[in-house]
Amino acid sequence: MGAWQDFRKAFGGFFVTARQMIRTVTGDGLVTTRYPQEKRTKPERFHGRHVLNRYPDGMEKCIGCELCAGVCPARCIYVRGADNPADDPVSPGERYGFVYEINMLRCIFCGLCVEACPTEAITMTHLFELSVTDRDDAIYTKRELLVGEDGTPSHPQEPNRLIDLAELELADGWMRATSPSGRAAYEGVVAWTPSAGVGLRPPEAGQSAAGAVGSDRDAGAAGSDDVDERGQTQP
Ligand code: SF4
Ligand code: SF4
Repeated sequence: MGAWQDFRKAFGGFFVTARQMIRTVTGDGLVTTRYPQEKRTKPERFHGRHVLNRYPDGMEKCIGCELCAGVCPARCIYVRGADNPADDPVSPGERYGFVYEINMLRCIFCGLCVEACPTEAITMTHLFELSVTDRDDAIYTKRELLVGEDGTPSHPQEPNRLIDLAELELADGWMRATSPSGRAAYEGVVAWTPSAGVGLRPPEAGQSAAGAVGSDRDAGAAGSDDVDERGQTQP
């Protein structure tokens, strides 16, 4: 009995390793995905590569306000605004994004730029395959970021097994899930503008739809917000 226990102590770990190797080879009990042969379905709110959107009439949504650059914790956005030409405006505002760059090597894909943007110009997509062979290529400019007049996004690399350009048309879901102030009272309320190519994105089903009880809407709170001295809505 003592010898058997000694044997188990000495070789028990090997049996665990061998069993796991066999399960891996046979595909039973895999905990990883065979990427890139198999790609997992991403969450609806996945934060991937950015795009700069246009309105359905082709006008650029970016007004060059630099709020996205100001809020970016990685300091990886560079924006320069310019006055719109009176005879051929680029955006509906007074100004437009004359220069727009994101250094993807520094981006942490937090989405704060998307939340800060007052015009929903910058949004994130589901594409994260961004490998480059030259550091300069990781700096995405308007040429890569701005969608075409019909809303078609562009990408510096050709589509292949890794790069599914259709993922560039899937927007992250923050603005579809919530509404101004992110309050449950506005769940299902569309409070954003349509974009070229995709039109008006529908809202997601929010937490109330998943079974939450007693939402603000049920309580009739949508029209009863308290506003503090800074003009911000209080719950
Ligand atoms: S996702 Fe975050 S880190 Fe990346 S550009 Fe936007 S704000 Fe900056
Ligand atoms: S993307 Fe949005 S936040 Fe950034 S400069 Fe353009 S309008 Fe302003």
